[in-house]
Amino acid sequence: MNNKRHSARTERQQQRNDSGSVAQHFPDVSEIVIRMMYHQKGIKGLLRTFNFSPGSYAFFRVDCLCKECTDGGFDLTHVINGMVRNHREAAKGELSCEGSAQASDHASIAYEVAIHYS
Ligand SMILES: [Zn+2]
Repeated sequence: MNNKRHSARTERQQQRNDSGSVAQHFPDVSEIVIRMMYHQKGIKGLLRTFNFSPGSYAFFRVDCLCKECTDGGFDLTHVINGMVRNHREAAKGELSCEGSAQASDHASIAYEVAIHYS
């Protein structure tokens, strides 16, 4: 169990290292801010904010908060790709955990993305 989780972590780290920088993917983006509100059993309105500068990894996956969840998470990559393509500055929506583990407490999130262009 711990090993499985550990290898998923390592793999995630590898994906992050392979993802390249924000500047490489989106040369005209000066800042990306992701705000997300977690909804999960036992956790009330946990708000997290992620800031990306041009030098940050262009890796927009966030882990599920559920302990048993090793392959889940929230992937905002397609949201951000779509926004940049259309030069949109703000978007919001909701996502549910993609995890396949039989766990009752997978989280879901409400997100807001703001992108500043240079
Ligand atoms: Zn999950």
